[in-house]
Amino acid sequence: METPEKPVALTCAQPSSRLQLGNYLGAIRRWGTFQDTHTCFFGIVDLHAITVPQKPTDLRHNSLSLLAEYIACGLDAQKSHLFLQSQVTGHTELAWILGCITPLGQLQRMTQFKDKSTRQETEGTFIGAGLLYYPILQAGDILLYNADIVPVGEDQKQHLELTRDLAERFNATYSPTFKIPEPAIDKEVSKIMSLQDPTKKMSKSDPDPRGVIFLLDEPAIIRKKIMSAVTDTGNEILAHETKPGISNLLTILSALTHKPISALEAQFKGIGYGDFKKAVADVVINTLSPIQTHYQALMADKKALEAILEAGRVAAQKRADQTLAKVYRKVGFLERQRS
Ligand code: AMP
Repeated sequence: METPEKPVALTCAQPSSRLQLGNYLGAIRRWGTFQDTHTCFFGIVDLHAITVPQKPTDLRHNSLSLLAEYIACGLDAQKSHLFLQSQVTGHTELAWILGCITPLGQLQRMTQFKDKSTRQETEGTFIGAGLLYYPILQAGDILLYNADIVPVGEDQKQHLELTRDLAERFNATYSPTFKIPEPAIDKEVSKIMSLQDPTKKMSKSDPDPRGVIFLLDEPAIIRKKIMSAVTDTGNEILAHETKPGISNLLTILSALTHKPISALEAQFKGIGYGDFKKAVADVVINTLSPIQTHYQALMADKKALEAILEAGRVAAQKRADQTLAKVYRKVGFLERQRS
């Protein structure tokens, strides 16, 4: 009997900086759970990264470093296709075609464009057209692989809506070509907040690094950041809107131990903030230490990392070529003669 094809899951991250705990809990750890049930394509999207200025040497290093972080966090190159966007042809070609059926107004209304362009304006740098075009390239990334599902965070929902709109518009204009990808948003993983301002999301671009736990932070740094996390004046370990700092630490502990918050509240009843923070720090360090050791070992062999990207590229290119050939034909381009 023929094995039915597995559904395709695709998701990507930018190689712009180091991953933080929120990326691990809200994204990468979860991506790994699709590896046995789906054909997975996990991309490192360096073309997206250059929508803001990048130093070429940093970009090259960050691309391999993100690959090592992916693998150290549980993405398995034997099970999934791990690829670098700029090494696969077709992303920008498809994006161009999709751009020709995208209303400009829809791009200008994107929350992320508004936020990032305002930031660039304030910093006195010009707003590159790439920043506006970014969601179309993202739609191209997804549709090029005809993905069934896209594991994303809440913050990417609007971009995925655009992808779905464009797939539907292309299908209606030409003929059914693209699957309409479904977002896979995990409602269970709450947002991880900054340790210094628990009303703000933990983010790698936070100007205050004390609020962010990077996956590669040394144990002593992690402990220091958690011990100096902002809390309130009370003394109870409870998740409550009046206690955003303690609630955030409980969320982190719950996500890492897989224990419900209520069980943790019971476990830490009568225990002071200092001891609670020590317990959180221990769990974070114990989780990240093996990831860090694995990361260091992977980074010590760049050739092996490049070989993983090459295998990913071959698989990704095969699927990309199939989609793009179909799209070119439907749009009315003459068939390319292959020599
Ligand atoms: P970013 O690198 O900020 O673009 O985040 C990439 C993805 O990581 C997001 O789409 C989320 O799924 C996840 N993520 C990032 N920061 C957090 C956070 N503080 N809490 C939960 N998930 C997060």
